[in-house]
Amino acid sequence: MKDKRIRKIIIVGGGTAGYMAAAALTKVLSKDNCQVKLIESEQIGTVGVGEATIPQIQLYNKLIGLDENDFVRKTKATFKLAIQFCDWNKIGSSYYHAFGDVGKDMEGVQFYHYWLKMRQLGKASGIDDYTLSSTACEQQKFMRSIDAGNSPLSNIAYAFHFDAGLYALYLRELSEKAGLVRVEGKVVTTQLQENGHVESVTLENGDTHEADFFIDCSGFRGLLIEEALHTGYDDWSEWLPCDSAVTAPSENAGSPIPYTRSTAKKAGWQWRIPLQHRIGNGYVYCSKYTSDQEAKQTLLDGLDGKLLAEPRVIRFKTGKRKQFWNKNVLALGLAAGFMEPLESTSIHLVQAALSKLFTFFPTLSFDQVDIDEYNRQSEFEWQRIRDFLILHYHATERDDSDFWLHCRNMPIPPELTHKIEQFKRNGRVARNDNEMFNDLSWFEVMYGQGIIPDSYHALVDNFPEDELERRLQGIKKVMVNSVDYMPSHQAFIDKNCKA
Ligand code: FAD
Repeated sequence: MKDKRIRKIIIVGGGTAGYMAAAALTKVLSKDNCQVKLIESEQIGTVGVGEATIPQIQLYNKLIGLDENDFVRKTKATFKLAIQFCDWNKIGSSYYHAFGDVGKDMEGVQFYHYWLKMRQLGKASGIDDYTLSSTACEQQKFMRSIDAGNSPLSNIAYAFHFDAGLYALYLRELSEKAGLVRVEGKVVTTQLQENGHVESVTLENGDTHEADFFIDCSGFRGLLIEEALHTGYDDWSEWLPCDSAVTAPSENAGSPIPYTRSTAKKAGWQWRIPLQHRIGNGYVYCSKYTSDQEAKQTLLDGLDGKLLAEPRVIRFKTGKRKQFWNKNVLALGLAAGFMEPLESTSIHLVQAALSKLFTFFPTLSFDQVDIDEYNRQSEFEWQRIRDFLILHYHATERDDSDFWLHCRNMPIPPELTHKIEQFKRNGRVARNDNEMFNDLSWFEVMYGQGIIPDSYHALVDNFPEDELERRLQGIKKVMVNSVDYMPSHQAFIDKNCKA
């Protein structure tokens, strides 16, 4: 029988996406069976932002077998327990979208439904008091899970903030050790086979590189997926109108906090990502409602440490390729599409795509049925994340600028309308199991954005009220004691992984 194995893979692009792909592929594929080559152009460079992650990154880290303390040290990373959203519902408001559990589920019903009831009765304090991550954020504490039985300390969910440039270098080192062939050079032309598949790419120096399968990690332009294969792009800016970001690092003023801060502004929002050696800042804005100059000023006014480099403007169009995988080209990272970093999902989408690639790994036949299924699953994943982001903008009481008036009044996708309507009735979340964000994430953001349900889960009323009050007090006390036990975030880094 003819050998139909993929023998040569070329990754075009050496940003976060390119090196995430390289590290995973060289780990999983033996170099004797399949050569993995990465072509990147230092002259073009990388986008160089993308510093906040979500806890699922630990699955990727496990796959490539990295030592977490070493990784944190070398990428000057910090730990992340939540995102704090300030001024999103209205100016002066603030809430956490925290990782991990909220309270403790009872009788098969999620804790937050019990809390909704007691809150309505005036017998419960804010949800953060019952959430380990939020309480730890307030006190700037951090540690990894320990074996502590039923204690919330046994189940601490966390992610990282890291320096994007150092992350790519770190993955490059791992990949090269595992057999990655790295080529420096600028791709100038692409050759196609008769069936429309990509055959090879040619560099500025005239060298031509052939492969069976190509992974396009060339950034926004999509050198192969778009420029060579003309796959097309779905524009989502009707729902997510921001199209620009101005970014700049600043000096660390004090110890790093264990969370990302996102502050809503007149025409978008500003992020603050603490690293060990600096703070990453950026203002994501809609150019229809503010100028670049005004946006730069807004960013600078919002910094709490000395500016370390000149602000840089990045343009983007929110949306995705019509197909993530087309013929023998798979697009990853910015080449696949872009959604603003409001919930730090882009790096996750690279990792999720790699995981799906391994599920549907092709042969030289490139079975269309697998490619279609890959695209169907990716489409679903992207759309549900898109809806989660839209929620932040749409569910707001802000009316202090044309931008916010637009967001409040814009039509939203029907699936999101359905989710909001159901939550408003009884706190339930109409979530499909495969969606990335779980019920707790939806609850935290909907409630935080000011959507207060009329009622709660029907089974909650079966629980005696005095017993419930006692339980809630107990849970709150456990959170206080647990966070008392945790070291400060800074102390944890100093002890385990100081850069
Ligand atoms: P790039 O970094 O643009 O890399 C493209 C690569 O292709 C480069 O190596 C370039 O040299 C190469 N290349 C291009 N053309 C050629 C050519 N002709 N020949 C050879 N090589 C070529 N994600 C998160 O998860 N969390 C965040 O907090 C976050 N924040 C973000 C903030 C902003 C403002 C933006 C724009 C993105 C953010 N992202 C975030 C997304 C994240 O930055 C990207 O998903 C990630 O960096 C992947 O980028 P990339 O590797 O796809 O593209």
